[in-house]
Amino acid sequence: MAERTLAIIKPDAVAAGVAGEIIAHIQRAGFRIVGMKLVRMSAEQAGAFYAVHRERPFYGELVRFMSSGPVIPIVLEKENAVADFRTLIGATDPAEAAEGTIRKRFARSKGENAIHGSDSPENARTEIAFFFAESELVG
Ligand code: UDP
Ligand code: MG
Repeated sequence: MAERTLAIIKPDAVAAGVAGEIIAHIQRAGFRIVGMKLVRMSAEQAGAFYAVHRERPFYGELVRFMSSGPVIPIVLEKENAVADFRTLIGATDPAEAAEGTIRKRFARSKGENAIHGSDSPENARTEIAFFFAESELVG
């Protein structure tokens, strides 16, 4: 059965003009886009989205970065979408990301790493609802 996950093309990749290349890469890997928008998150929104990391030393920097420019949240559908998309994006730190992954190709650093992917089906549902109403997703 098809599963959904949330991707976010982060401000570094949008500013670098590589969002189109990243979207093409995702589609070629067999993911179907069922929702997509361009948004500029406020610091409050970015802080809420990453609230699970509130106590981490990089939280302030992460919130500043994620609200520094427009991002592209995308809802993706595929069998095993959550785990398969984590494989497609690669490790958090591009220095540790496998060849052929999105972060290996497009990320600049562990912080500015081009793309987000949900880490569990439960978090995917919460993260999708953070950006999208059900009426904004195609069937
Ligand atoms: N991050 C960071 N420094 C770190 C770890 C994470 O700046 O040491 C940032 C990075 O942008 C990462 C995000 O915080 O993508 C969320 O961290 P997480 O550990 O959830 O990594 P992810 O799930 O994105 O691979
Ligand atoms: Mg994570």
